[in-house]
Amino acid sequence: MRVVPVPVLHDNYSYLVVDETEAVAAVVDCAEVEPMLAAAQQEGVTITSVLSTHHHYDHIGGNDEIAGKIPVRIYGNADDDGRIPSLTDGVREGDTIHVGGLIARPILVPAHTSGHMAYYFEEQRSVFTGDTLFAAGCGRLFEGDPAQMMSSLAKLNALPDSTKVYCGHEYTVKNLEFAATLEPKNKAIADKLAWAGARRRDGQPTVPSTIGSERTTNPFLRTRNQELRESIQERFPDIGDDDEDIFGATRRLKDDF
Ligand SMILES: [Zn+2]
Repeated sequence: MRVVPVPVLHDNYSYLVVDETEAVAAVVDCAEVEPMLAAAQQEGVTITSVLSTHHHYDHIGGNDEIAGKIPVRIYGNADDDGRIPSLTDGVREGDTIHVGGLIARPILVPAHTSGHMAYYFEEQRSVFTGDTLFAAGCGRLFEGDPAQMMSSLAKLNALPDSTKVYCGHEYTVKNLEFAATLEPKNKAIADKLAWAGARRRDGQPTVPSTIGSERTTNPFLRTRNQELRESIQERFPDIGDDDEDIFGATRRLKDDF
């Protein structure tokens, strides 16, 4: 498997997931069609499927156009039929999706949207997380609450450390700047911020991350961390010690960061 990150729109990533053996590829989140067709041509592969993570325009805006241009299966949450354009294959957690010889498993991770799916290629230890898990961040809670996002993130956090994380936006520097305000003593955050800043200055993507890296740098996976809790409790003196409240307050702070 080869994964080609393709920057689209303002700060989105679509991905071309290539099965080199069969020379076919899936697009993860088709926001724009031309850049994906160009990437496929560059790789010498045929796009046969689209895996849609969720119904927001900057992730599915190209579905109708690509379906009109080339024969593709379009996968997405079966419950989002009607919200994911040109859906041909509604899927649920537990299903399998074949991309040539590659196998993806949808993981239901609601909260950013109620039907948000991540796509996990277990054998290749790679997960496509859309707008649920970002490098050092998580999506806004448009259709869910803190408890639901915590349980969605817990599913991703249960994957092995070495799992590569391909997320839907290039938000890494800003996310790490926020994380550093909550954990100024966390060296992993400071080091990754320096690295990510250098990558962006060179015009390079900061994806993929790994689940292991997220465990040490992502405030939304670090609700139990003492320094983070104290930072949150300092800002919200009435908040108490409940994990969900700490998480919710972290999310609210980030909304305004
Ligand atoms: Zn979104």
